[in-house]
Amino acid sequence: MYAVWKWYRDKSFVLKITTGFILGAILGLIIGPQAQVLSPFGDIFLRLLQMIIVPLILFTLIAAVNMTNPKQLGRVTVKIFIYYILTTAIAMLIGIMLGTLFNPGVGLELTQTHVEVPETPSFIDTLLAIIPTNFFDSVANGDILSIVFVAMIIGFVISGMQHGNEQKVSDWGSMLSKLLDAGTEVTFRILKGILQYAPIGVFAIAASRIGQQGFDVLYSLSRYVGASYVGVAIQFALVYMLILFLFKIPVMQFFKNIREAIITAFITSSSLGTLPVTIKSADKAGINATISRFTLPIGATVNMDGSAIHFGVGAVFAANIVGFELTFGAILAIVLAGTLASIGTAGVPGAGLIGLSIVLTQVGLPIEIVALTAGVNVLTDMIFTTCNVTGDLAGAAIVSKSEKNKELV
Ligand code: ASP
Repeated sequence: MYAVWKWYRDKSFVLKITTGFILGAILGLIIGPQAQVLSPFGDIFLRLLQMIIVPLILFTLIAAVNMTNPKQLGRVTVKIFIYYILTTAIAMLIGIMLGTLFNPGVGLELTQTHVEVPETPSFIDTLLAIIPTNFFDSVANGDILSIVFVAMIIGFVISGMQHGNEQKVSDWGSMLSKLLDAGTEVTFRILKGILQYAPIGVFAIAASRIGQQGFDVLYSLSRYVGASYVGVAIQFALVYMLILFLFKIPVMQFFKNIREAIITAFITSSSLGTLPVTIKSADKAGINATISRFTLPIGATVNMDGSAIHFGVGAVFAANIVGFELTFGAILAIVLAGTLASIGTAGVPGAGLIGLSIVLTQVGLPIEIVALTAGVNVLTDMIFTTCNVTGDLAGAAIVSKSEKNKELV
């Protein structure tokens, strides 16, 4: 028994997870919806990943902030947000362009399915919500931005204590700092254990999702799905690869180093769920640890290039169906609404459907269209999430590169 475990443990993660996916997909295709019985095994994996997110962010981020100073963090914040906004707006444009090329909605009809549009909080309310009134509520609800906010404050304070003049306080600061390092080690060890289970979880997720989906829906919406996949491919080639190249980061090596995050994102359809693996991949890619631990949780929450492509393609799809002419003004409105909606889209499976309904409402297109695409959302969500996570990692990499040889550790 131990020999089997040792054999399994020592195989590469990518090999195991890919095998799990392929075997699961084949089983799903063979037995169809019955594969649903396996879904609890997939849920175990997703829940384990979610379980580790909050402690991981808390420990790694407090420790990262503790290691740096506010001026450096300010610089990193400005750079990463400029990157987020620019790449998201480009992704929106790519989505619209691809939608216009593929015309995915032509020939389809609107089925009158009712879709609820959630209320969108105002921009100011969204910003205010980052400051929690009860931190334990934020932890319980998994409000990542609030957790990041509090973790940064704690990190700064511990750093201030460590470098203070009073010996006693400085000793406490050092003690807390060591404790944080130990806590980080604990969470990474737990994560390592979770990843050993990943191939089984991935097998179950692939079998149950593909078994349930089948090929029928895919066929009628193949142009929509095609436009989504090609859109993401263009974002990879024209945006990430180009930016990495311009920053003199070896492009292929980078993608090789982050492949665990890419595969996990594809399978889980959740940027947040993938976050633990994303942070691990960032270390592998040699991204500065302070920068990755600071930017990646924020990126997993606000930077959604794949979701932006989704909104672009989806808006053209809706416009096709109702014969709405996409003027320059309409395109501008879609880009603006989509960029904002992508920031508000949560990094969880299916969140993009809510974002798309917000964009359609903003530009006056019928949101019933969302129900039409929902059937293939399982397939498109996988590629959009992969794009979301890759965008976060590419951003962390170029900011890290730009900060090289400066004081950041
Ligand atoms: N599932 C995506 C993510 O987690 C969000 C979306 O649905 O667009 O990144």
